[in-house]
Amino acid sequence: MTTAVADRTLTAADRCDRCGAQAYVRVVLESSGGELLFCAHHSRAVEATLKPLSSEWHDESGRLHEREPVPVD
Ligand SMILES: [Zn+2]
Repeated sequence: MTTAVADRTLTAADRCDRCGAQAYVRVVLESSGGELLFCAHHSRAVEATLKPLSSEWHDESGRLHEREPVPVD
């Protein structure tokens, strides 16, 4: 595991820590440097609690609305 906080893009392999859905929000905790991943739903559910404790709040949930399923040629 790396502790470097790279501004990497979340992928389909990143899963919500709460429900296992695709993660769209990556949170880095200020205290431990630990990384948490949340789906759009759970990021909103934990935002009020976790955001003040986080050093980074990387939210890609906007992509939910931008990226419609694209047919593969
Ligand atoms: Zn979730």
